[in-house]
Amino acid sequence: MTPMKTHQQKMQKIKQAIDKRIAKAQTQKGLVVLITGNGKGKSTSAFGTAARATGHGLKVKVCQFIKGSWDCGERDLLEAFDVEFSVMATGFTWDTQNKETDKAACLKVWQFAKKALTDKNVDMLILDELTYMLNFEYIDPQEVYDCLKNRPNHQHVIITGRGANKTLIELADTVSEINNIKHAFDAGIKAQVGLDY
Ligand code: ATP
Ligand code: MG
Repeated sequence: MTPMKTHQQKMQKIKQAIDKRIAKAQTQKGLVVLITGNGKGKSTSAFGTAARATGHGLKVKVCQFIKGSWDCGERDLLEAFDVEFSVMATGFTWDTQNKETDKAACLKVWQFAKKALTDKNVDMLILDELTYMLNFEYIDPQEVYDCLKNRPNHQHVIITGRGANKTLIELADTVSEINNIKHAFDAGIKAQVGLDY
């Protein structure tokens, strides 16, 4: 047997297996995607998907918990394409050091999220850095789980943040954990415009 033929036969076998799996995956539904872990790339993954969906004409809304007191490139871009944002805008909790004002700001963003989670016109909702709000107990976790479960059937939700809890992992359809192998910040390099914000 020539090496060429062996390669072709191998590829044919792989194609058959993949085609079989694609044919089997027929369910069309709104998904919960959870991007967690300590490595860089959670929010960028969510915003990349928001851009992908917007490009297809889907209606996307974004909640940014924690972040937002500085200019974000992704926000400026997506808002220009009618993607509505609700931003906590308090900065990091270790900067504000005020639990009460942080919690109030968080609940305001959560109200926006709750409304979007009942809105049939919203095709995709991004809940960026939501995991911290649950871990800090700023939002009632049961309320979050209930709203996610009762949302419109077709609606996709993307949740990001480190330390996702077990219930959230069970509730999500797709979960990715991004590992930190190394990060430039540890070598004393500051956050870079366009790459980190
Ligand atoms: P990104 O927004 O770049 O996708 P992320 O959402 O995965 O990052 P966050 O902790 O939310 O991670 O990121 C906040 C900021 O911290 C970003 O500017 C990011 O580049 C930076 N960052 C992310 N992971 C690390 C890390 N392991 N060490 C240092 N800085 C990090
Ligand atoms: Mg992030």
